Amino acid sequence: MSVMESYRNYHCSMSDRTPVWWAMVDRPKLSSSTTHSLGQMWDVVIIGAGFSGLWTAHHLIKGNPNLKIAILEKNLVGSGASGRNGGWVSALYPAPDETLLRKSNTVAVKNLHHQLRNSIDEIGTFAAENNIDCGFHKGGTLVIATNVGQERRLREHMSDEEVILDAQQTRARINMNGSRISMFSPHCAAINPAALVVGLAASLEKKGVVIFENTAADLSSDKRVWAKGVELKAGAVVRAMEAYHSGTRDQIPIYSLMIATEPLPLEVFDEIGINNRETFADASFLINYAQRTADNRLAIGGRGAPYVLGSRRKDSRENFQQIHKKLESMARQWFPILDHHTFTHHWGGAVGVTRDWAPYLRWDGRYAELGGYVGDGVTLSYLVAAATADLICGNTTVRTTLPFVGWTNPLWELEPARFLAINSAIALSSVADAEEKWTGKPSLVMKALSPIIGK
Ligand SMILES: Cc1cc2nc3c(=O)[nH]c(=O)nc-3n(C[C@H](O)[C@H](O)[C@H](O)COP(=O)(O)OP(=O)(O)OC[C@H]3O[C@@H](n4cnc5c(N)ncnc54)[C@H](O)[C@@H]3O)c2cc1C
Repeated sequence: MSVMESYRNYHCSMSDRTPVWWAMVDRPKLSSSTTHSLGQMWDVVIIGAGFSGLWTAHHLIKGNPNLKIAILEKNLVGSGASGRNGGWVSALYPAPDETLLRKSNTVAVKNLHHQLRNSIDEIGTFAAENNIDCGFHKGGTLVIATNVGQERRLREHMSDEEVILDAQQTRARINMNGSRISMFSPHCAAINPAALVVGLAASLEKKGVVIFENTAADLSSDKRVWAKGVELKAGAVVRAMEAYHSGTRDQIPIYSLMIATEPLPLEVFDEIGINNRETFADASFLINYAQRTADNRLAIGGRGAPYVLGSRRKDSRENFQQIHKKLESMARQWFPILDHHTFTHHWGGAVGVTRDWAPYLRWDGRYAELGGYVGDGVTLSYLVAAATADLICGNTTVRTTLPFVGWTNPLWELEPARFLAINSAIALSSVADAEEKWTGKPSLVMKALSPIIGK
């Protein structure tokens, strides 16, 4: 092992496991819960203070300032995926249109994409109006092909909203080792998600929403909510726990891991570009994604950590060292100049994945459950939360007609078949990436896998 490698290993094991975003954020002291008791009558009780729960409260209180809303959070605001993600505010939707069209219609699918694009700007406007310094910058997004197989796949699957950039145009935006072409979409912003989530929580408190941190909720089978031994009486209940709703067959937690560099000198960006803070991903099946942060770090994420038997959440999966190391060496391969710089933060989190990769919002007149965003929940949670608020208020809007409303997902297989299928799919995604690299054709392995992964 070289001196450089042993230094890196040491650093990897000693570095900060807190998402880099929290290094740039002062957590506001939330105090609304100190003056309220759980046991009073609430109009709406929301379980989970991530983006889904907080945006639901935001949309509700906007039209109904007198509503009494309680949010119960097991840990602290944003301690789930919302405070540990890649900060892409994108218009992506995890399920392809073909899946949606099986149960929905072309107008609803078109409206969905339109609403997602609008939601990006609405989030940016909200942050600006509330002086939330989350580094929101809409520089678009690039998917970069590094082999002929990926290039062919990108060309085959691009939509009207995307354009192909040739090798030279790609290099003018991002100088990634081995890049051939890229696909650019203007519909993405980069943010510090932790700054947005705490800013959103603080803005809600000012409007009278009560947030109980360190308060785990128990939801009974008849949808009654208990916390700290007290039953919370409410007109409506919202389960906004996303990947924390686990151990069932309707959704599984899959881990995405991230690393971040120290703040990099501007000369590094003279070499690698990304000068409009475009978010970027490679076109691999394992999904590696990144952004240049507002303080000039690179924050890079990727999948690959194994799924846990029984769909249990396991915090140790958030720090799966093997994947963190793989991400570091991938980043240094993308941008060799990073060899002179340190990765200071290593962390991860779980995303909720349904059997058909389609997000859901189900509402029975008193109880709502929402989630299944896979890795696209930053914008999506805003939109799904808006539809949730519409349903609770009894309003029929374009949002209540979108495909995720009332969506029923097929169940995942029984264990251990599920465990074997998912972990094989994760392993075979790497095989499919290698296959595309060597054959120069879109992967047949991935084609065979699509019934398993639902895409
Ligand atoms: C590493 C990573 C990278 C990602 N990158 C991106 C990205 O770049 N762009 C994008 O669009 N999406 C991304 N995602 C997905 C996105 O972060 C999530 O879809 C989104 O944050 C989900 O928000 P949420 O509020 O539904 O869930 P969460 O933020 O997970 O919130 C759920 C909350 O519920 C709380 N909770 C759980 N159980 C209880 C209980 N019993 N009682 C009370 N509270 C409870 C949890 O503590 C948690 O705070 C990423 C996710 C991860 C993990």
